[in-house]
Amino acid sequence: MVNPQRTIDELKELRALTADECGAWRVAWSDTWLQARAWFKAKLADIPRVTVHDDAAGNIWAVLPGATDQSLLMGSHLDCVPGGGWLDGCLGVVAGLEVLRHFAAMEVPPVTIKLIDWADEEGARFGRSLLGSAAFAGNHTVDADRGRKDRDGVTLEDAMRRCGVEIGRAALATGGQRDAAAYLELHIEQGPVLEQLGLPLGIVTGTKGVERHAITFHGQAVHSGATPMPLRRDALAAAAKLALEIRAIAGKHADAVCTMGSVKTFPGIVTAVVGRCETTLDQRDLDAGNLALMYREAVEASQRFAAEEGCTVEWSRIWEIEPIPFHPDLIALCEASVFEASGTRHRLPSGPLHDAAEVARCGIPTAMVFTQSLRGISHNKIEDTHEDHLRMGVDALGRLADKTAAWIRARHG
Ligand SMILES: [Zn+2]
Repeated sequence: MVNPQRTIDELKELRALTADECGAWRVAWSDTWLQARAWFKAKLADIPRVTVHDDAAGNIWAVLPGATDQSLLMGSHLDCVPGGGWLDGCLGVVAGLEVLRHFAAMEVPPVTIKLIDWADEEGARFGRSLLGSAAFAGNHTVDADRGRKDRDGVTLEDAMRRCGVEIGRAALATGGQRDAAAYLELHIEQGPVLEQLGLPLGIVTGTKGVERHAITFHGQAVHSGATPMPLRRDALAAAAKLALEIRAIAGKHADAVCTMGSVKTFPGIVTAVVGRCETTLDQRDLDAGNLALMYREAVEASQRFAAEEGCTVEWSRIWEIEPIPFHPDLIALCEASVFEASGTRHRLPSGPLHDAAEVARCGIPTAMVFTQSLRGISHNKIEDTHEDHLRMGVDALGRLADKTAAWIRARHG
């Protein structure tokens, strides 16, 4: 049996080691992050039969051999954003540690158990999120990433080398996929949905796909005093209409979100009509069809509003990722485990990406459990979760790991 209270005690131990009154400082490739990882390795050293190694992308692997080489993977990330909270990422790693102990207490675990601390999930310093899990999944972008610089001009390549990781070898981390039969991750929700519903835990159905575009409206900058209202070509007016229209576009789908997060006006002075307005649009949904429809509708609406305001509009894609649904069998096992641990069952998609998305993307059956986030706040020192809910989350992960190990045995023998 797992001991969820020990997970909470250990999370507090880690907080005492890596946080101050401004939050946690386990930013990837920093000294504090290395300290957190050394703490984690010391915990692993106390578990019998577990061997530990770093892979070519800097991910830490703890391996407990079982009755078959077919492996149950669990993991998350010890790194955090600067001034971050005490749960984002480390909850999944420290809870995984507890589940690993549970299997280590068996004479022979039913399958091989592997616990992973993924390197640089947050991308907080160099802007490359999911670095370690992407390398594992074969989605590394080494050539684009090695020259990335932090605020002080240090390159990612040098920062990694200081921690003993050669970025040029990162692609070798795909070797970890061998015998990987399933992947599980426990994480805080980081949003307000479960709290709104009064639920301690959620069953994650997958991570939403993202369409991210830069949209520029072109009008005419003219004198604000000399130009009558009907004769203006106001680029901001067109952009403003779109900013309201995306609510209706997202509103047709239960879990869709659309956000215009940035608006810049040119010339951007008080005495001129806006001649050019640069905006961004971020659209997310778990269903690829919905996502494609929302994109088409936004393009069509932007052209209509541009025409109404005598402007033109231009789109360019910034980034995209497809929706990544989790495995239906594991979602069902996850639902059973969450129900046993909490007496509730609620499925929801994840808006943020997680290491689990990269693992699922390379074809490994994946499931995820969310715990409620108080006030829906994360990436902030006030990030928190009721300890009751944390205990239920660890319990659910333990139950899910047992069920998944049995599922692997039934599937692979
Ligand atoms: Zn995280």
